[in-house]
Amino acid sequence: MEHKTDIKSLSFEQIKALIAGYEVPSFRAKQIFEWLHVHLVTSFDEMKNIPAALREKLEADCEIRNVKKKNVLISGIDGTRKYLFELNDHQYIESVMMRYRHGNSVCVSSQVGCAMGCRFCASTIGGLIRNLTTSEILSQIYEIQKDTGERVSNVVIMGMGEPLTNYRNVMDFIRLISDENTLHISQRNITISTCGIVPAIISLSKESLKCTLALSLHAPSDEIRRKIMPIAEKYSIKEILHACDQYFNNTGRRVTFEYCLIDGINDKEEHAKALAKLLKGRNAHINLIPVNPVPENDFGAAKEQDIRLFRKILEDAGINVTRRREMGRDISGACGQLVRRTV
Ligand code: SF4
Repeated sequence: MEHKTDIKSLSFEQIKALIAGYEVPSFRAKQIFEWLHVHLVTSFDEMKNIPAALREKLEADCEIRNVKKKNVLISGIDGTRKYLFELNDHQYIESVMMRYRHGNSVCVSSQVGCAMGCRFCASTIGGLIRNLTTSEILSQIYEIQKDTGERVSNVVIMGMGEPLTNYRNVMDFIRLISDENTLHISQRNITISTCGIVPAIISLSKESLKCTLALSLHAPSDEIRRKIMPIAEKYSIKEILHACDQYFNNTGRRVTFEYCLIDGINDKEEHAKALAKLLKGRNAHINLIPVNPVPENDFGAAKEQDIRLFRKILEDAGINVTRRREMGRDISGACGQLVRRTV
């Protein structure tokens, strides 16, 4: 099959360059861009104010990549919606919409599967299948906004995949979703999560973005981190913290450290004390996540009394701590589980 241009992944400037070759007025670029990113159309036929001849040219040269809703689970407790989407090549990904007082937040996937091998995570069990295109990351938000009829105001790139190993497409996604001529989601409301790819964090710190960086730390020492995250063989906590400091210094945006509490592995008093020592003096914020059990491994959720003590030790050390609300408990299963039940 001939290769068509993935038009929804293009910036406004790139669409202008594309249609320059068609010898049509340049204002058509703005119209096409708006149909794609404001009206969220999925076919060229829907672009009503575009002349038929131009629509035919676009149809011949380009495709509008979309994701297809296959299933949605809705929490009876808090309205959290977990979506299963199918891609053009019949792969599956999942996205979650959470309703908060400050607005709707969508957690998007950036890859099909993941190569990182974190032991508590279901998304990595089948390895990495492929990167998502910019258009496929955008489409998760577009389809959820259309499905609910509600505006999405916050984005977390924390679903399947390690976003910083799909670097270019994720950067293009952030620039497009925050563009003032699209859904215009503020970069301050976008969080990008990473398991700690040091060179990519340093590149990210130079992108002039205003996003929040969420670093999946999950351990107070390299020794424990290596037991649960293979990436820890490659980069030490010291190197990671150094890169995070650079991110903060360049962007002025505080880094959030994500910490999954796993029973008996990283959730005891000594671990909390070591973590407090590691982060003391930093403008850090720790988000504690009681881990979701994954049937394929033997990690259990931390006990409530351990979670409380852990939090208290950090707070007593003057560290800013939140505990992630367990949204959609009744529909959940860990991230990646819906896909695993489907394929
Ligand atoms: S936690 Fe994130 S980086 Fe680690 S395996 Fe899962 S999807 Fe990949």
